[in-house]
Amino acid sequence: MFKNPFNQNCTCWICLEESNFDSAWILHECGCNLQVHKLCYLHWLYSINKNYISKNLVTKNLNLVTEDDLKRTMCYLVDSHRNLHREVSLSEFLNTLPFIRPKTNEPVAPSVSIMSVLGINYSISFRIVRSPMSLPVEFAECPQCKNPVVNRQITFTSRSFFLAVFYWTKSFIRNTTIALTLALSTLNIGKWWFKIGIWQLRCIFPENVLRVILDISTTKALNVYGETMSGLVSIPQMTRFLIFGFPVCLMGVRSTNPTLNRFRWLYSLALSVRAGHYDSNNTKLLSRTLTTCNICMFLHSAITTPFISRFYEYLVKTATPYFCPIDKSLDSFPSQGYGDVIIKTSWYDVLFESILWPAIGSMVGGKLFDAVTWIQREFGLNWSPSCSPNDCRMVFNFVGCGVTAVARQLLDMWASYMRAKELKQLQESIEENIQ
Ligand SMILES: [Zn+2]
Ligand SMILES: [Zn+2]
Repeated sequence: MFKNPFNQNCTCWICLEESNFDSAWILHECGCNLQVHKLCYLHWLYSINKNYISKNLVTKNLNLVTEDDLKRTMCYLVDSHRNLHREVSLSEFLNTLPFIRPKTNEPVAPSVSIMSVLGINYSISFRIVRSPMSLPVEFAECPQCKNPVVNRQITFTSRSFFLAVFYWTKSFIRNTTIALTLALSTLNIGKWWFKIGIWQLRCIFPENVLRVILDISTTKALNVYGETMSGLVSIPQMTRFLIFGFPVCLMGVRSTNPTLNRFRWLYSLALSVRAGHYDSNNTKLLSRTLTTCNICMFLHSAITTPFISRFYEYLVKTATPYFCPIDKSLDSFPSQGYGDVIIKTSWYDVLFESILWPAIGSMVGGKLFDAVTWIQREFGLNWSPSCSPNDCRMVFNFVGCGVTAVARQLLDMWASYMRAKELKQLQESIEENIQ
């Protein structure tokens, strides 16, 4: 008879703890009345495999020989948030699409077996990220009926709701960006890049400022120019550079890529030169805003970034992730590299975030602007800046972008912290000795 498993009181036959059935338990598929925690089961499966490899040093899968390897393989297979620390390749992405997915679940098995016949372990060099696919003993047997306790791969996540949402969002960003990039690459990518550039500039700068920066009588004309190749060519070179370069410049701010970083400084130099031409009410407002931005970014990279790197370094060294075997006493990465270990920032993250950044920044800026005017009205403050409302709004757009960037950084740090905790829990529960 069917019983609702969620009302069931379970006793784990490994650790003898008792609690109500929830996601920490395994639903026993063999039909025997034995209950077991997920983590206890995984630890048990690990010890079975450990015994197995100590008896048979060379297994059918040549990758699996040492205990360290076994532990890493086990963690990899069990970790259901594993895409947080690795770059998903295009072929893997295509495999996840329902109509392309291969029927078997063994995408790399053929290459592994061919190499095993030759007797040389080539599989590591073929797969840059070493990701062995199976354990020597895949399922543990139920001690009563000798059937596998469960017939599928058990996966583990901590119960953090935040991390689940974060993982889901990351996957969504990855899939959307790769799919859109593939789709746009079949069209005229230059035209689309130009449109993105104009759209981003419009998010930040009001029309009258844009006219001066881009040296054009009306920016509406740019929409028409952007439609055809000959139109694009007829735009003055500097204007073209400013439009095409804007998304690249934002990518340079977001990513740690040295080429993009250098481009960012070049771009801001060019923008500052043009911004010098805009001088309504003799305030030099635009130039001053851009200078403040540059100073803030410089201070950020000189003062805040080292602290943030320390934080990531601490996380990596305390969690010692299974996918990143490091010696705690050594600095195996340049200090900025630690930020990329636990949660990897890939090209699709940089692309997605830097394209949406001005829109989100201007939205936040608008809210801040409303808040400031509300405070002024409510408390009777009389603060009247010497610039026009449009210019004022522009400054708030910049502030909004800054606030967005800080919020993103804090979010990333919090997610890394939660993920480090999860990794620690997973690794410790597989290793620890419950006898
Ligand atoms: Zn247990
Ligand atoms: Zn059984």
